[in-house]
Amino acid sequence: AEAQLRQVQKMEAVGQLTGGIAHDFNNMLAVVVGGIDLALRRLNGPRREVMMHLNNAMEGATRAAALTRRLLSFARSEPLLPERVDSNELIGGMSDLLDRTLGERIRIEVDRAPETWPTYVDPHQLENAILNLAVNARDAMDGQGSMRIATENVKLAANAVGDIRAGDYVKISVTDTGCGMPPDVLERAFEPFFTTKPVGKGTGLGLSQIFGFAHQSGGEVGIDSQVGRGTSVAIYLPRTEVAAPLRIHPATSAQRADT
Ligand code: ADP
Repeated sequence: AEAQLRQVQKMEAVGQLTGGIAHDFNNMLAVVVGGIDLALRRLNGPRREVMMHLNNAMEGATRAAALTRRLLSFARSEPLLPERVDSNELIGGMSDLLDRTLGERIRIEVDRAPETWPTYVDPHQLENAILNLAVNARDAMDGQGSMRIATENVKLAANAVGDIRAGDYVKISVTDTGCGMPPDVLERAFEPFFTTKPVGKGTGLGLSQIFGFAHQSGGEVGIDSQVGRGTSVAIYLPRTEVAAPLRIHPATSAQRADT
């Protein structure tokens, strides 16, 4: 049942991707088909012109291949292996990693609540998520400035953030004093492969993976951003009382549904 659940989560992630990439992929195919079509029509024309059209087709095909490679590696990404996680402790353990990744010109202020409620999440994915947010913050500040990583226990009403359920959550936020996001970027920020960064620098997968992770963990992600002032991204993770690893058995869920 656990393997099945993981498979479902994986398919959800892949499903999320398709909408975002179908459009890009179609554009690339149009370049390939168009290039070959023009080359065929010009077969008896100047060689240079035929070559040019074929080269265009080749370029489109190469970009499409790179896109599917990224898609496949994303689909193969690690399944969630949740355990009981203390967010304060996890963030405390990341300080060396953060310092090394961000460099000396970024000042990191860590502002942890006196204690954080336990959560039941995959600690590696949570660490990845925080690291991704910190890297985004660094990029937004052009490699220089200060950012704040904070934790807080919060009680939320239904739909207070996205389509969150009412309850207790641990809020982990990464706030920067960078460029901020204009409305058109904010609107597409969670879209897989959406990036405003130069080729080779951004993959456009950071926020979409964080979104998937938060949702699959029963939580949410919220973005607050003002152009020219900065951005704050918050991950909300549900409080858990589970002490030992939770096992989901079909029988148990059926019983629950009956009662
Ligand atoms: P990537 O960082 O690879 O581009 P993400 O999914 O993490 O992919 O982010 C998507 C886009 O959202 C970025 O290209 C950027 O335009 C915008 N963005 C993300 N985080 C921030 C931030 N802290 N400040 C400003 N813009 C941001």
